[in-house]
Amino acid sequence: MAVYRGKYVLEGLATISPEMEKDLDTAYDICKSLDELPCEMCGRCCHQPNIIVRPEEVDRVATAAGVDLYTFMTQYVYQTSDGRILFNKSENGPCRFLGKDNRCTIWKDRPQICDDFPYLVSKLMSRVYLAVTNPDADILDLISYMDDTWPCTKEIKSRIVGLVEQARKDR
Ligand code: SF4
Ligand code: SF4
Repeated sequence: MAVYRGKYVLEGLATISPEMEKDLDTAYDICKSLDELPCEMCGRCCHQPNIIVRPEEVDRVATAAGVDLYTFMTQYVYQTSDGRILFNKSENGPCRFLGKDNRCTIWKDRPQICDDFPYLVSKLMSRVYLAVTNPDADILDLISYMDDTWPCTKEIKSRIVGLVEQARKDR
């Protein structure tokens, strides 16, 4: 199984060719450039249902939450049938760590997925990669899963077409 940058699993691939790695780097750079978008602190992303805590993050997040490991595992998270650990919350309700001012109360120790969100490099990157390498692909179709009523995703959609077009020219 091929793994890009030590953490992005490319399902169904055994290796990454140099040409593919170059295109993946392009897609990665586009996604990371979107990290610079200003956050309007609307709190929408902290109402998402599936907030994953990686096993290696459990101790850190439990400590930040100020609870022991048993309390964390039994009250703060639950495990899905496929082994993922998710924050325990109502489907569209706020994460329990979201403050009244829409700021994260465990910001420094939040799970990696929160750092990636809403840009979710692995998901967005796969779409950007497809668009960069397939001139006929429409990047806006490929990322139609993104909710553009959010301030940040609206901005991503306004920028991504130009970024993909430039990457195709530079390729
Ligand atoms: S949805 Fe976007 S703009 Fe709103 S808080 Fe999250 S990152 Fe910021
Ligand atoms: S841990 Fe913090 S950043 Fe992550 S969903 Fe909860 S409030 Fe938002």
